[in-house]
Amino acid sequence: MHWTENSQPSRKSDVHLSQLASVGQIAAGIAHEVKNPLTAVKGFLQLLKERNEQKYIEIAQSELENAIAVLQNLLQMSKPDLEEPFVSLDLTVELESLTQLFQDQFYRVTVVKHFQHPGTFIVCKKNQIKKALFNLLKNAFEAIPDKGTITIGQSASESEVTIYIQDNGSGIPKKKLELLGTPFFTTKENGTGMGLTFVFSVIHQNNGTIKVESEESVGTKFTISFPLTKDDSVRREAAVLLQLERTENGSLKEFFEHNRSAFEERLLAEAVNVREKIDEIMAIGNIDLVANAHKLVLYIVEGREHEVVSFARTEGISWAKHSLTLAFKLEWIQAVRRVMWNFLYNYDLMNDYLGSKEQFYDLEKRINELMDLFLSHFFMSYSQFKDNLIRAQQEIVEDLSVPIIPVTPSTAILPLIGDVDLHRSAAIEDKVISHLGDRRIESLIIDLSGVLKMEAEVIVRLIRMIDGIKMMGCQTTITGLRPKTVKIMISSDLTFTHKAMTKGTLQQALAEHLLQDKDAKGA
Ligand code: ADP
Ligand code: MG
Repeated sequence: MHWTENSQPSRKSDVHLSQLASVGQIAAGIAHEVKNPLTAVKGFLQLLKERNEQKYIEIAQSELENAIAVLQNLLQMSKPDLEEPFVSLDLTVELESLTQLFQDQFYRVTVVKHFQHPGTFIVCKKNQIKKALFNLLKNAFEAIPDKGTITIGQSASESEVTIYIQDNGSGIPKKKLELLGTPFFTTKENGTGMGLTFVFSVIHQNNGTIKVESEESVGTKFTISFPLTKDDSVRREAAVLLQLERTENGSLKEFFEHNRSAFEERLLAEAVNVREKIDEIMAIGNIDLVANAHKLVLYIVEGREHEVVSFARTEGISWAKHSLTLAFKLEWIQAVRRVMWNFLYNYDLMNDYLGSKEQFYDLEKRINELMDLFLSHFFMSYSQFKDNLIRAQQEIVEDLSVPIIPVTPSTAILPLIGDVDLHRSAAIEDKVISHLGDRRIESLIIDLSGVLKMEAEVIVRLIRMIDGIKMMGCQTTITGLRPKTVKIMISSDLTFTHKAMTKGTLQQALAEHLLQDKDAKGA
């Protein structure tokens, strides 16, 4: 299919969707969705008057619940998110990470990306935009019944950033095109028909425009444009004028302490992605991110290097202990850094704190060095903790891979499974010899039926171990030798004769040993 700017195939429909669904359209949608269940309720109430049946009450109740769900869905969508701040955003980064959410579909849908101007930022409500793009991507994946391709593009001009999401799926019939964005319009069995309504309203709220081109059984292309802002005050977020209070004696520490709630508020507005995780992190690790951020900033502005380092260490450990994501920590700390600088800027404005450029650079060096010190100690203790954990787990695994199982007071079995290489055979030797030293094992059965193949050098090592076992007054029986191992032994002139007994299977060896034990007791 060709979607070049000029091509206008006759069947292709192209609709500008800059306008939101009209009040009439919305009303019709709600009326339809709510009227159906209410009509059903009315009918069943009538039936109830005639015959008092429990079943009718249940149906009426569930129909009412449907109607309420429809209204709730609509309310949730129309509630404007006044809280969310405008931030600068590179749409290519978001599209990149959003497509990853559809990984499970990649076996059937190929995603092609044409990002011409990555690194171009628009100013928008990030979460809203992400949700809207997610909805468009989801629709595109759903429009492709079997195998297909989704192409995502981005380009920028002087005045705007344009992205498109194009699929070669089912397409939309011309007469339905006008209905897109109308609440509850869906052609899917389990669709809500709220996706595009949300998308259009979000694009509109963020000063964007959206356009759709579609052709039945060829595909659909949504194109969205956002104006590029010239307004520096929104883009240079480090220097936003805030409503902060001056403090009397004027120390930085007091300033941060006094404006603590403003600091926390600003931080939450900045760290969009982490915000949703704060409660979770509190629940998992009992870590109060917000309070900790404030504490860190106080240490930093006071130049308390020692406290910064020890705080970083404890945080690194608890972060590792609870397996919390490092990406979040990084984003969080960057947000803390931005808000701190924003506060310093406001402080300077209020108090005329920095007299000269030299003073500024001095402050910059002090503050950023401490922040970096925090980060590097955090990461160091985080990875140290993880390394130790891995090492301890490795030891457990090694121990588990040499299971010496007592079957009678004087007999034990060592079943070996999997690959035995030189490293592992050294571990086996070590454990067997010290185990025999601790206990009075007279007979050890080593079962090799779970070992597919052993190299000659490993067999040499095994023979050496059998010598050692003998020295400790214990007799070795080898069972379950695989043909492959036997061939290697023959060709390398290796043998167990005179050192160990060999038996075909573990069962045979065991039966014999138990019999011997019984005889010994009987005698
Ligand atoms: P839902 O996905 O729940 O049906 P939406 O508002 O997201 O609701 O979409 C409304 C309808 O628009 C869909 O049911 C579908 O018929 C049509 N539609 C949206 N996107 C596409 C697309 N990429 N290709 C084909 N049809 C689409
Ligand atoms: Mg949808």
